[in-house]
Amino acid sequence: MERTFIAIKPDGVQRRLVGEIVGRFESKGFKLVGLKVMTVSRELAEQHYDVHREKPFFSSLVNFITSSPVVAMVWEGEGVVASARKLIGATNPLSAEPGTIRGDFGISVGRNLIHGSDAVETAQREIALWFKEEELVSWEESSHRWLY
Ligand code: ADP
Ligand code: MG
Repeated sequence: MERTFIAIKPDGVQRRLVGEIVGRFESKGFKLVGLKVMTVSRELAEQHYDVHREKPFFSSLVNFITSSPVVAMVWEGEGVVASARKLIGATNPLSAEPGTIRGDFGISVGRNLIHGSDAVETAQREIALWFKEEELVSWEESSHRWLY
């Protein structure tokens, strides 16, 4: 089953948006298979954003992502990579549609709250970079006989 890597950036954690953001992926119907709160090393941040190494914003991006804890997650479901990008919205929150996470809560491209993998292959690379295999779970709903 397809999986994607999602990270709530330091601004999302500091603004107490973790529950709101996790809730959006849960409400949509995707399955949470990995989650941890962590401080990101410079090495991990640089590897994660390697494609942006030559961009003018690279060092400020790495400084920001390593400045304070993030929440790293893996979500599973058919088409989850592209769907998560839609739930997240455009990179610049001022252009992001209302109803998306960045559109509803963000105003700055440098503080856009959340990362989501941009393609299935990128997701595989990012999941392997951020998570050990044993940190990810596999589960199915049981029959809900304890709910009324
Ligand atoms: P996305 O996170 O939507 O995939 P990119 O991969 O293009 O966006 O960029 C990675 C991150 O770098 C963005 O989420 C944003 O935090 C930051 N970023 C992108 N463009 C700029 C910019 N012009 N100025 C400052 N930060 C930027
Ligand atoms: Mg990107």
